[in-house]
Amino acid sequence: MTDQHLPVAAPGDARRAAVRVVRQDGRVFGVTVGLNALATVAGLVGPWLLGQIINTVENGGAVGTIDRLALLILLCALVQLVLTRYARYIGARFGEQASARIRELFLGRVLRLPASVVERISTGDLTTRGTGDVTTVASTLRGAIPDVLVGAVQSVFILAAVFVVNPLLGACGVVGLLGIWFANRWYLRRARSAYLDLGAANSVLAEVLVSTAHGARTVEALGLQERRIQATVDAIEQCRRHRMRALSLRTVLFPTIDISYFLPLVGVLLVGGALYDNGAISLGAVVTSALYLRQLSGPLEIIELWIDLLQSCAASFARLEGLTQLRVTEPAVDVAPADDRIEVSGVHYAYTSGRDVLHGVDLDIRPGERLAIVGPSGAGKSTLGRLLAGIDHPRVGAVTVGGVAVADLPPDQLRRQIVLVTQEYHVFHDSIRHNLLVAKPSATDAELHAALDAVGARWLAELPDGLDTELGGKGYRLDSGRAQQLALCRVVLADPHTLVLDEATAMLDPTTARNTERALSAVLAGRTVVAIAHRLHTAHDAHRVAVLADGRLTETGTHDELLAVDGAYADLWRSWHSEGRHGSRPTTG
Ligand code: ATP
Repeated sequence: MTDQHLPVAAPGDARRAAVRVVRQDGRVFGVTVGLNALATVAGLVGPWLLGQIINTVENGGAVGTIDRLALLILLCALVQLVLTRYARYIGARFGEQASARIRELFLGRVLRLPASVVERISTGDLTTRGTGDVTTVASTLRGAIPDVLVGAVQSVFILAAVFVVNPLLGACGVVGLLGIWFANRWYLRRARSAYLDLGAANSVLAEVLVSTAHGARTVEALGLQERRIQATVDAIEQCRRHRMRALSLRTVLFPTIDISYFLPLVGVLLVGGALYDNGAISLGAVVTSALYLRQLSGPLEIIELWIDLLQSCAASFARLEGLTQLRVTEPAVDVAPADDRIEVSGVHYAYTSGRDVLHGVDLDIRPGERLAIVGPSGAGKSTLGRLLAGIDHPRVGAVTVGGVAVADLPPDQLRRQIVLVTQEYHVFHDSIRHNLLVAKPSATDAELHAALDAVGARWLAELPDGLDTELGGKGYRLDSGRAQQLALCRVVLADPHTLVLDEATAMLDPTTARNTERALSAVLAGRTVVAIAHRLHTAHDAHRVAVLADGRLTETGTHDELLAVDGAYADLWRSWHSEGRHGSRPTTG
């Protein structure tokens, strides 16, 4: 189980990243702003014309003039309607494209993480970021950004228009809006940390749930139910507390803003009324300014509605950007192994600093040999297997293939060299064909059938839809043995020269496991197979056996040689025999 939480980007980094996202579609963004500006100008002409009508009526003007002004108001409303429609359409497209980029960026970053990092970080945190945070950012980009953009452009133009009508009334409007500015400032200072805390609490809750579900059998076996329930209740309580804090901030912000909307209007009516009484301004100008400020409440309300979502979006975006701070070891690209020979020399490895679990292991694996690694549980067999497969670098020493450090190979090159097969497999919600094509996209149906035959998956013939059978969800459910065979079949298709099998057939019943191993060895004849052997018949069938004990390589030789030596391997063999060859748990591991 791992629980290292992912980093969160600093506000400055997140802002720069957000600007980069917008810049990628800078032209569309510019067009959206431009269209909104034009729509707003068209909308501002209406109140101004209304002011002119009032002034004309006051001065006893002609009916024809008033009709013409009224017609112009109608025309402006139509122009505004059309421009707004296009501005919203382009804004929504901008949001959709930006949210698609965010999803792709996240997926790309996760896929580039080294396997060793993925194993260390918290699954719950990664899942929460990939689901909740990506969704929040995507929906904000789709909905909020176009709306806020429209609102911001409209607000600026409306205020500018009031200043044009009468600077004093414009100043009244701005002073009246100060309440909104202060309320927002107060809120924004607190909201980021509140939403980041909420995101972190959600990640912890997801991690607790995932790890409890994952280790359900262990929890049951060790009677840890109460402890896990308590951990879940605590995590839920943390989530509730942070959610309540975010909510309490909103309960201050929204009422304050609701009241603040009317202050500029009240100010303009009072000051405008006084100016009109003194003959310093026309009645039309006062009405126009009041109508403008009344119009201002529309865009401001939209911005306020979204501002809360923008805050949670900013926190989610900072969490997504945090992934960039993880160390991604870029593999060396210009190296090609000279041959298929694997060498382990002087390897020390530690999961936690100061506690080596491998102590100076030296091992040469000859191309084409079948090597079994055996040893008691915790001896370091799986750790050695991970290093052989290039999942991690040794702390000291080297694991090389053809003279190149295995962990430095680019993933696509590494897959063609060495593949680690563990009992952890994945079945995609897709057809059997596409589940297999991930390993070799160019494979023909005949190759897929041959690969399935090679791993002994004869059950395919029983399925009416054959390779098109849908798996997972409402589709066909593979039992764990068949799913494991499917995973092994992918290995056959990937066709690496070396295979590290770590309990790869552990889920299969002993007979199927043996059949699968036999089928695999038949297909992989001439290739190197390193089998971390829990069933000693694997060691018996191997060309050579390496015995690990307490992180040290203690014996190597053939099955017969090691029996003759009568050392650790002979003990393991005798004990396995006395338990019976068909026991569910072998003596080794
Ligand atoms: P088994 O047969 O039970 O799978 P093994 O021989 O494969 O055992 P490893 O799994 O390689 O042994 O473990 C070697 C040592 O490293 C053990 O002491 C184990 O507790 C420790 N270890 C394994 N994985 C981790 C990890 N992710 N973090 C910290 N320690 C670990």
